[in-house]
Amino acid sequence: MLTLTDADRKQYENIWVVAEVSSGRIQPVTHELIGKARELADASKSQVWTVVMGSGISQMAESLFAYGSDCVIAVDDARLNGIQDEIEANVLVRLIRKYKPEVVLCAATTKGRALIPRVAVKADCGLTADCTGLSIDPENGDLLQTRPAFGGNIMATIRSPKHRPQMATVRPRVMKAPEPDKSRTGKIIKESILDTDADKMKKIIEIFQSKEAAFNLSDARIIISGGRGVKGPEGFELLKRFASKVGGAVGASRAAVDAGWIGYNHQIGQTGQTVQTTLYIACGISGQIQHLVGMQSSDVIVAIDINPDTPMMQMADIAIVGDLFEVIPEILNEIPKL
Ligand SMILES: Cc1cc2nc3c(=O)[nH]c(=O)nc-3n(C[C@H](O)[C@H](O)[C@H](O)COP(=O)(O)OP(=O)(O)OC[C@H]3O[C@@H](n4cnc5c(N)ncnc54)[C@H](O)[C@@H]3O)c2cc1C
Repeated sequence: MLTLTDADRKQYENIWVVAEVSSGRIQPVTHELIGKARELADASKSQVWTVVMGSGISQMAESLFAYGSDCVIAVDDARLNGIQDEIEANVLVRLIRKYKPEVVLCAATTKGRALIPRVAVKADCGLTADCTGLSIDPENGDLLQTRPAFGGNIMATIRSPKHRPQMATVRPRVMKAPEPDKSRTGKIIKESILDTDADKMKKIIEIFQSKEAAFNLSDARIIISGGRGVKGPEGFELLKRFASKVGGAVGASRAAVDAGWIGYNHQIGQTGQTVQTTLYIACGISGQIQHLVGMQSSDVIVAIDINPDTPMMQMADIAIVGDLFEVIPEILNEIPKL
């Protein structure tokens, strides 16, 4: 890896966000990343630039100013229809070489995970995946990239002092999207695809979503989540009744998933999904760090546990000490009366 001199490093400026475009829409994670990029840009007195690549995306570019972008680079080309991460990687590397961003942020989604490691290799820089915290070191302007390490037992803060750009991915719902400010405006730069970017184009024959993937916990506003304290698949039936009564979805700890009580697509945490719900009700989940990193940004956290001293009970906004098999039926009895 090529180490940059201080003079080389100074040529790099601005915080970039790579927009996530799928199903013809800019995905909400892009707004979350722009919100974080805005904070970083304000701290480093630089600008937020967003790169949008896709087919027919030009109309959407302007909407990104409202979330905090100062400039949008739009690459609109029919060849970017569908999943074209190899072409997008080639284009992004060219743009990085041309404009020299100091930081590049991308969503840790299936698409982002296919795209951004290619870019990191081609641009000869590092990549910190699945960050849960990002800030600027006031001493030297480096990006401080915080993520769980060693199986989530510690939080590590990583910096790349000698390489640019500094690249990081963040999962959806880890950062909060800012309220859009429709009065904000900015600059749009139109860039094109070169034939050399698209020389290895693949042909997508069919795209389909499996039933498992279609179940998306992160869209739920209320999650009733169960852990080892739920004691078995029958316990999850109680949670499903609770969830359907309040219009929510069922989540689970890894202990419950590993025990085979519920499917992996319900798992929340470091090796499951990250959620940011309005209401998260943890039933019989002790709240180990690997679980907390997947749900701690929820607005209101309620915990039900027989042990008042667990990390989950300590962090909850409302902690109910009791047996979940007694507490939940009582809550269900009360709901029609609310
Ligand atoms: C690399 C790695 C990645 C991991 N990734 C994840 C992940 O993504 N998600 C995840 O969840 N974990 C993950 N884990 C596992 C994590 O460390 C914990 O083991 C797990 O979260 C514990 O699940 P739990 O809280 O359900 O079980 P426990 O820690 O056993 O907690 C059960 C709780 O239920 C309570 N309880 C028991 N009976 C009742 C009752 N009748 N009523 C009410 N409360 C009751 C107990 O008091 C206890 O607090 C990971 C671990 C590693 C090493």
